[in-house]
Amino acid sequence: MADAAAVRGPGLDVAKARGNFPPLAEEARPGVPLRYFDSAATALKPSTVIESVRECMAEYPANVHRGLHVLSERATEAFEGARARIALFLGVDDPAQVIFTRGTTEAINLVARSWGKMALRPGDAIVVSELEHHANLVPWQMIAAETGAVLRYVALNDDLEYDLDSFDRLFDDGRVRMVATTGMSNVSGVRPPIEEIVRRARDRGARVLIDAAQSLAHERLDVARMGVDFAAFSGHKVFGPTGVGVLYGKRELLEAMEPVLGGGNMVLRVERDRAVWNELPDKFEAGTPPIAEVIGLGAAIEYIESLDADAVARHERTLIDHAHARLREVEGFRLLGPWGTAGKGPIVGFTMDGTHPHDLSHLLDRYGIAIRAGHHCAMPLHARLGIPASARASFALYNTTEEIDLLAEALGSIKTMLRRR
Ligand code: PMP
Repeated sequence: MADAAAVRGPGLDVAKARGNFPPLAEEARPGVPLRYFDSAATALKPSTVIESVRECMAEYPANVHRGLHVLSERATEAFEGARARIALFLGVDDPAQVIFTRGTTEAINLVARSWGKMALRPGDAIVVSELEHHANLVPWQMIAAETGAVLRYVALNDDLEYDLDSFDRLFDDGRVRMVATTGMSNVSGVRPPIEEIVRRARDRGARVLIDAAQSLAHERLDVARMGVDFAAFSGHKVFGPTGVGVLYGKRELLEAMEPVLGGGNMVLRVERDRAVWNELPDKFEAGTPPIAEVIGLGAAIEYIESLDADAVARHERTLIDHAHARLREVEGFRLLGPWGTAGKGPIVGFTMDGTHPHDLSHLLDRYGIAIRAGHHCAMPLHARLGIPASARASFALYNTTEEIDLLAEALGSIKTMLRRR
């Protein structure tokens, strides 16, 4: 098994942690080191994750569940071991409540299709916000159109934070069945008050889904303790592989829900005209699953668990504080969301006066600096802000304040260069 304890121990040795992520030793182009500020799009993978995927492919590239031979047993053991580890990580006793999907998008679609079809009636409401990624909007729009339900939006204040009084008023007519909220905005890093939202929604009899795609790389989500009904996340944003994600659901809900995909593995018995569904989690896992990816995700969670979570949180706070302080000085820099960093994730969404975000990302790329530009799959948020696109620099435990200095300097130089033109 790969050595998962590469940085284990108290505190965070950032230099040592960086050594676990191969691209950080690479140059973006000859003589220009890579500065990776795009972890919110996809996080880099530590060598333990890479090794676990290689090991699976090289040593037990067999199918799971069905085989009766040694390779299949090894694959099944590693696959189910990953599920058990992820369940524990989420504070869940029963691994059968962890369903593997292709990612957050598929997990939310599964809930919208299956739970939505079962629970929504004409005039029922699904509460979302303008902070949501399209993955937590479009599936709800689709099922609303099918069932006659409607979407209601939580009002945001000028800092793009939830207005909790307006949130309460959405429940006045008793029609809200679901609150589907992001755990952290992928554009501004704003973290809605999830615990409070869950408490208020549950008091009023609504279900809650947390889109933890952004938040989970930065903070634990104890789904059982919080009492959320569903939670979704993607492997690739938590240092794991692409092509795999997780849906957590409460057992009684998952049991009552119909599967969305039919095929092998999700059935106990198939007759000519009907089939009997398998137990959880298989009921929702039709076909051959992404085996190496699931095993890699297990290794990614093991990596996160091997870190001193408080030290990582402190380091990420230092990074975001430093980024705000340095970027604030750059002429024409406009931050999206609050300058206060309390309760905010290590994500800086911004625009630069007179420069299109796409041009900015191309120009920064010349400095070896990787950021993201576009609408970040959050068009309603950009419409509210009155801008077509924005730039985003996002940080992870392997970034340093020195790298952020380089970002600020590069933005300053670009501004000067563009002014001279
Ligand atoms: N929700 C949020 C908040 C995200 O940031 C993303 C990815 N950008 C998604 C959902 C969708 O994740 P995936 O593409 O991995 O399904």
